[in-house]
Amino acid sequence: MTETTLTAWQRAAGTLRLPCLMFIDGAMVAAEDGAAWAKLNPATGALLGEVARGGAADIDKAVAAARASFEDGRWRAKPMAARRDVLLRLVELILANAPRLALAESLDMGKPVAEALGIDIPGAAAVWRFYAEALDKVGGEVAPTDAGNLALVTREPLGVVGAIVPWNFPFDMAAWKCAPALAAGNSVVLKPSERSPFSALILAELAREAGLPDGVLNVVTGFGHEAGKALALNQDVDCLAFTGSTRTGRTLMEYAGVSNLKQVWLELGGKSANIVFDDAEDLAAAAEAAALGIFFNAGQVCSANSRLLVQRGVHKRFLDLLVEQAARYVPMNPLDPAARLGALVDGAHLAQVRGHVEAAKLSARLVTGGETVPVHPGGAFFAPTIFDDADPASPLCQDEIFGPVLAVTPFDDEAEAVALANGSCYGLAASVWTGNINRALRVSQALRVGTVSVNTVDALSPQTPFGGIKHSGFGRDLSLHALEKFSYLKTSWIKFS
Ligand code: NAD
Repeated sequence: MTETTLTAWQRAAGTLRLPCLMFIDGAMVAAEDGAAWAKLNPATGALLGEVARGGAADIDKAVAAARASFEDGRWRAKPMAARRDVLLRLVELILANAPRLALAESLDMGKPVAEALGIDIPGAAAVWRFYAEALDKVGGEVAPTDAGNLALVTREPLGVVGAIVPWNFPFDMAAWKCAPALAAGNSVVLKPSERSPFSALILAELAREAGLPDGVLNVVTGFGHEAGKALALNQDVDCLAFTGSTRTGRTLMEYAGVSNLKQVWLELGGKSANIVFDDAEDLAAAAEAAALGIFFNAGQVCSANSRLLVQRGVHKRFLDLLVEQAARYVPMNPLDPAARLGALVDGAHLAQVRGHVEAAKLSARLVTGGETVPVHPGGAFFAPTIFDDADPASPLCQDEIFGPVLAVTPFDDEAEAVALANGSCYGLAASVWTGNINRALRVSQALRVGTVSVNTVDALSPQTPFGGIKHSGFGRDLSLHALEKFSYLKTSWIKFS
């Protein structure tokens, strides 16, 4: 099933089987109380399935299965080569199932199927491969000691990791958490977002087929205030790895505090600035990238370049180039291989985006977009939207909208650009466009964010850490550093004579 036309994808969608049961201890199971919720397709409003609605009892069962699998060492204590081979088999299965996964992802949360197939699924496979190959490459230390002593510093798996992930890149976010957690020897309970449950369930099926022992990866589907809360409050979860909103991140820290002080790692929201200086070498390329930086995935990207700061001398010209680029993001049926902009995740999110945009119309100049688009009667489609002369203090420039909405603010000099970029409660990412290497380095150093991209936007790889500071959270996903958050340091002293 590698489809190339809208009709072919629609036909494939008609026959696709979407798993609706949770995955606990190697088995597909309904919720203990039989509850389920109706999962709709955001592009059409059609019912995709009645998905098991997990609650505290289901979380308890999944955590118990994870704990048992951790304690008896069926994964943790397996030879490293065997664990590596299981994860590499999973990579092959993900790639072999890429069209099915991409279709599930697109139907579930509205992103263009071609992007899911070309970016999300191979991206997740690359992350699984990175950690499979890394798991026997990172060792411990021998600490300096006085004579007659040996102090070994080793990294030990934490135990049971609870992973709570969002809906914007469901399969990727599951990989970002589960791959390093499993590579480090932990057992996992994954709770996908209620807005995108399917690809996590397919992942569990594939992991089992790859040879991951039962109980090592469990998936509990359900709502944040039910299954998510129960996982975060559980007394037997050692670590909570979260990607999602800043608001939920705060709540999770409270839950950890009132339960068992589980470690918490938070990858939260952002309001990333893209700074275009008048000495940028290729304004057309910068405009193309700026459009990608905000309209890719309909702006539902934590590190979306949602604030564009442009130097006054090129402001007008850059805006014209940008509007031309925005016109290439016409909202379309996500199953159309030509689509670059699909549906937003659901009607509730569409209403929120629209609310932000209506408010912004009162404080900034609407240049293009600003309205819903009737691609399909039941669909949640919004036009690529650009506001100019945005007030840096306004909600348009301060609040994470998480939609295809760009706020443009002109600036006069470098100091002002840096001050504007840093004038946010978030600190996830930023981009800088300049042909001057000194300026590129100076500005990069001054930006208070986790990732700076120079003459590109949103640069990312499995080898490089990703995460933020300030209200964007703490801890890093990806890279070898992510292994650190799924293990603890143990010092073993040996006295000899
Ligand atoms: P969200 O916080 O509403 O939900 C994220 C997850 O948390 C979901 O699985 C949800 O069910 C769960 N959840 C919600 N309330 C909970 C509670 N009280 N207890 C336990 N779990 C709970 O966020 P979202 O709308 O799914 O995702 C969008 C947000 O995610 C944006 O703010 C975006 O910036 C952020 N995000 C960040 C990154 C990053 O790496 N920094 C990446 C992607 C998305």
